[in-house]
Amino acid sequence: MTDNKDLQSLFGLGDKNDAFAKYFIGQSYLKHLVDPHDNIDFGVGVVTFEPRCRNNWHIHREGYQILLVTDGEGWYQEWGQAARKIKKGDVIVTHDGIKHWHGASSKHSMTHLALTAGKAEWLEPVSDDTYDKLDK
Ligand code: MN
Repeated sequence: MTDNKDLQSLFGLGDKNDAFAKYFIGQSYLKHLVDPHDNIDFGVGVVTFEPRCRNNWHIHREGYQILLVTDGEGWYQEWGQAARKIKKGDVIVTHDGIKHWHGASSKHSMTHLALTAGKAEWLEPVSDDTYDKLDK
């Protein structure tokens, strides 16, 4: 666990996100807000990224994702487009088949609710080289 006050969220931090760690660079935390085994084919969870943490490029197949940023500051990028700085209160819609990644900024953590339908296809990581150019 962390004692970083920035990582406290409305819904709680949850546990270290070990289940998806291989698809992330850096430390993230995940709390499922709806039991994924409760016969509901839709994910509702809160994800907290420590500074510099981000997920790999990925695609939500046969579904979509809505991110509701509840705390901190981070990045969202779709393939072929400039990265977008995101912050508390932002809402991001990712449609079926769109390659993208999301994560914290270099100096701040970021927490978002993730409402997810379909299955994620995980792709290559966002390298330090690419990530380090974002703030420049
Ligand atoms: Mn996503």
